[in-house]
Amino acid sequence: MTKEELTVLAAKLMEEEDQNRIPPDIALDSAVAGMRLYDKPILGFAGAEDPLFHELKKPEAVGPHFLTPQEWMQEAQTVISLFFPLSPEVRKSNRVDMSWPSLGWVHARAEGMDMIDRVNQRLREMLESRGYLVLSPVRSERFFALEDEVQRIYTSNWSERHVAYVCGLGTFGLSKGLITKKGVAGRFTSIVTNLELVPDARPYTGLYDYCSLCGACVRNCPAGAISLETGKDHVLCSRFVNATIERYNAPGTRTRRNKRYGCGKCQVKVPCETGPCKPKP
Ligand code: SF4
Ligand code: SF4
Repeated sequence: MTKEELTVLAAKLMEEEDQNRIPPDIALDSAVAGMRLYDKPILGFAGAEDPLFHELKKPEAVGPHFLTPQEWMQEAQTVISLFFPLSPEVRKSNRVDMSWPSLGWVHARAEGMDMIDRVNQRLREMLESRGYLVLSPVRSERFFALEDEVQRIYTSNWSERHVAYVCGLGTFGLSKGLITKKGVAGRFTSIVTNLELVPDARPYTGLYDYCSLCGACVRNCPAGAISLETGKDHVLCSRFVNATIERYNAPGTRTRRNKRYGCGKCQVKVPCETGPCKPKP
């Protein structure tokens, strides 16, 4: 399979998903029933042996617990990163009340993420049916994510945003989102495979090339979690986002991974919402 075929296939699989529109029977309000959640994904490709994956083991990056593609799969040749931009409807809905996430936004985080997981799974099945080995690290039994407010630890052994950076999809912003050519508002997923493909060139050199430090995300943040001087405070962000779980989920419903919650005020009403803010010449 070629990179172009994979890109077309990912978009087609997404369009086939009923749940890319909020199903009326589960909509939190009839006003958001049928709202489109994501636009077609953009894909980035990196060689599994890219030295930057080893750089992610440094404490100032993800940390020594980060597993490289070949630590996930010995035969790995390529990492495919996919970015699903949030639809204009969802982004617009999240610009109205800057205190709480919109219903469209939390549906995109829950049912939308289910949909992205299924697209990932169907892509893997397609590759497997052609004889390739495939793995999605976050769906692997070896994946772990740590969240410890006391020790201020928010990390995992596979970081979709860092992997997307290596795959050429974008650079970090002050808010710690990854700013892609389609903006910062969206979700990532990835696949490790032994399919050999030519890696994409990274059109940047610095971690923050697409962020102008304009400060719009600082002003938008309802938790006061972002600062121009010190960047993002994960504890303050996490506390706020966790508070939204109680607001949008009946007790005991849905799993932690696909609960309805979120915020995303640092991803809307900002210059990097739909594209790089400070592209390198
Ligand atoms: S809003 Fe401005 S400061 Fe914040 S991430 Fe985007 S470009 Fe950077
Ligand atoms: S997600 Fe919300 S609380 Fe967290 S940094 Fe962004 S704006 Fe602030």
